[in-house]
Amino acid sequence: MDSFDVKSKGAGNDYLRSVKPMDEILRQDQFSRADLVRLLESAGADRTALFSAAAARKEEVVGKKVYFRGLVEFSNECSKDCLYCGIRHSNSKVVRYEAADKDILAACRFAWDNKFGSVVLQSGELSSSSFINRVDRLVKQIKALSNGELGITLSCGEQTRETYQRWFRSGAHRYLLRIESSNIELYHKIHPNNEHHSFEKRLECLRLLKACGYQLGTGVMIGLPFQTMENLAEDLLFLKRLDVDMVGMGPYIEHEDTPLYEYRTLLKSKKERFDLALRMVAALRLLMPDINIAAATALQAIDPAGREKAVKIGANIIMPNLTPSAFRKDYQLYEDKPCLDEDADQCRNCLEARIELAGSEIGYGEWGDSRHFKNRQEA
Ligand code: SAH
Repeated sequence: MDSFDVKSKGAGNDYLRSVKPMDEILRQDQFSRADLVRLLESAGADRTALFSAAAARKEEVVGKKVYFRGLVEFSNECSKDCLYCGIRHSNSKVVRYEAADKDILAACRFAWDNKFGSVVLQSGELSSSSFINRVDRLVKQIKALSNGELGITLSCGEQTRETYQRWFRSGAHRYLLRIESSNIELYHKIHPNNEHHSFEKRLECLRLLKACGYQLGTGVMIGLPFQTMENLAEDLLFLKRLDVDMVGMGPYIEHEDTPLYEYRTLLKSKKERFDLALRMVAALRLLMPDINIAAATALQAIDPAGREKAVKIGANIIMPNLTPSAFRKDYQLYEDKPCLDEDADQCRNCLEARIELAGSEIGYGEWGDSRHFKNRQEA
């Protein structure tokens, strides 16, 4: 069937819109920006078709397994001032904490005992030598306590090549650093315009991480003020070009003590942001079938079963929160962040997930590395 692109009627924009039939787009294995916009805007039967195509592709390429990564948010100290983030440096309402090594290690032991396979250590962004040494020590201790069995993902922001290398040698093998938005203008709208929040530096860090040998993870926020569907389609193409192994992306959720809160009237409703995030996950699964896609915690902040819904249509990673409960309320990146009053030991959050994940299998005790990474190594 013939297909053609037409210009959208949007005021002053010259973006191309695909009017190809949905079933034709869904049979492709390459997608143009216009195709992706079409997927992201799909509704009704088209959206149902997108979701079933993505679910089928996932099962065919990465299988039915879902892997758990125990998330330990070990410190909210942060030197950055990202305009959307609740723990930004200038938010003086935040009570700053650094969890004690023994509590972090206890959370990791819980993950290991419960056969999670992997943990994620996440924090604000610091570059002091005490911070770098501490992360290094924790990585070694986590390896030691689990006979080298627990996989370790780090999510500790922008660092130098030496630091990334050092942490890699000590045993971390995956790194998550979200680009937040791959559009430089939008990036500058959601970050202060200074050297400490440089788009180029963030990109350079992503390249360094890959060069060091990490499985590379990045992602974006969905439904930001000023963000267009074309921006999101380009974000997906950016992930493809960067050839990432893992993606974590979720809805942007406003936080009242941040500068971006001022623009909340520009936002889509939370429900719409949630739906859009699901379409992003499904479109990404079609675009990059062999990567690991995390069901973001922010999905769960909008819909209690949000992560499980994402798993049904393309995601294959869940990150139950194992942050020591005393600190959870102080790691509020956005409003309504879930699981604030739970104990890691109860971990009701992941027990529920197990029940809700009917139709999936849980990859207990397996690292669940990105198939894309293996394919990339072999190539
Ligand atoms: N300091 C680390 C980890 C940051 S927190 C780093 O820079 O990589 C992890 C992620 O939370 C961020 O990358 C961002 O995408 C997300 N986040 C922060 N504020 C948010 C908000 N208001 N809504 C949704 N997600 C948010």
